[in-house]
Amino acid sequence: MEHLKISSAQRIIFESIKVLDTEPVLLEHSLGRVLAEDILANRDLPPYDVSAMDGFAVRSCDLTATPATLEIIEDIKAGDMPGKTVRAGQCSRIMTGAPLPQGADAVIRVEDTLALPADTVQIIVSVKTRHDVRPKGENMRNGDVVIGKGTEITPGVIGILATVKAAKMQVYRRPRVAILSTGNELEAMNDPVDPNKIPDSNTYALMAQVQALGIQPALLGIARDDPAELEQYLKLGLEYDVLLVSGGTSVGVHDYVRPTIEKLGVSMKFWRVAMKPGHPLAFGVLQCTTTHANTAPDAFVFGLPGNPVSSMVCFEEFVAPALRRMMGNPRLFRRTVTARLAHPVKIRPGRTEFIRVQLTQDDAGYLASSTGTQSSGVLLSMARADGLMVMPAEGTGLAAGAQVTVQLLDGTAFQNDINFRE
Ligand code: AMP
Ligand code: MG
Repeated sequence: MEHLKISSAQRIIFESIKVLDTEPVLLEHSLGRVLAEDILANRDLPPYDVSAMDGFAVRSCDLTATPATLEIIEDIKAGDMPGKTVRAGQCSRIMTGAPLPQGADAVIRVEDTLALPADTVQIIVSVKTRHDVRPKGENMRNGDVVIGKGTEITPGVIGILATVKAAKMQVYRRPRVAILSTGNELEAMNDPVDPNKIPDSNTYALMAQVQALGIQPALLGIARDDPAELEQYLKLGLEYDVLLVSGGTSVGVHDYVRPTIEKLGVSMKFWRVAMKPGHPLAFGVLQCTTTHANTAPDAFVFGLPGNPVSSMVCFEEFVAPALRRMMGNPRLFRRTVTARLAHPVKIRPGRTEFIRVQLTQDDAGYLASSTGTQSSGVLLSMARADGLMVMPAEGTGLAAGAQVTVQLLDGTAFQNDINFRE
């Protein structure tokens, strides 16, 4: 099989996976979930024209010549309903959010008035009708869809859900994800340090990448490069919606992952992608079985490269979008920013390269510089990265100053400096 383009591999994945079923969730536990229903406004908000300021509800036609002295006929506090109609030469004292009284068509803020004795006030400014009036239904109108199905629940969305009294709502289920490392050379977290072994970092880096999507994965541990042992672990992993297995997917004689997965009934859709790092990437589907009384859902297997950087980059490009799609999120891909290259970068043409970069900012925008050695075994290049710079497959590299696209990684939503002028 030839090396697939990244977009072709992603297309195959998206054609295979489905959005999962839905479940109810309480508002308090809904952050980060994706709505599986439209949310409707249950009233007009505000329910009537209200004041936007603490001040005086007036008839704008009384203020054509200012200053104008008006009689205060009523005091309307937030929560009060007005009782009197404002007529020529009159006004009502009004608080922010209180309903506009009959007869008034504008609000004058306290700062534009002078208090006078005997329940009168002097208005200094003239205003147009509707000035500082928040119209009925400005926020939402009864029955309108305020937040659509497919929206990710952020703190702002939670505020709206609370406003329409959605204490509970339908969201898409999260996939159940299992993580398996493979390799005789691997040393588990609880094993004593052995200089001849390789510490298993993939289990934990992948765990964190899954957690960053709001999913708590199951850690299956380490399977040795032994077909029988591997088969036991893979069988267990295939009970989940998604199995991530790292290592052993290449073409080495002890790379048993692919043949063992196939033996278990998984149909492999591809196992090579034209990218660096990460080309031995495999994807397979175990079709659902409906022979028993209960239907087991499809299981999806990602055979990730063993190299720590490669497995993380493959997760970013393929697994994260797949998991987000399963959770009903239409936003599948990392946000990209345009940056200038701080230094020249050479690549081998024919495959897309992901260079781990740090981003700094100057008046002209973002500047991207490599995090250091780009060997796929050097995980510090990933640990230090703000983003993955995407080097197109054509061409042999780019000069300093070239415009590049950078995918932002977790941890980039905040920065050290405030970076705006007040
Ligand atoms: P493989 O894909 O199995 O040929 O592994 C490629 C490289 O990645 C080898 O140097 C492995 O030692 C290393 N590797 C594989 N799995 C892990 C892991 N779970 N944690 C850290 N390094 C790994
Ligand atoms: Mg191996």
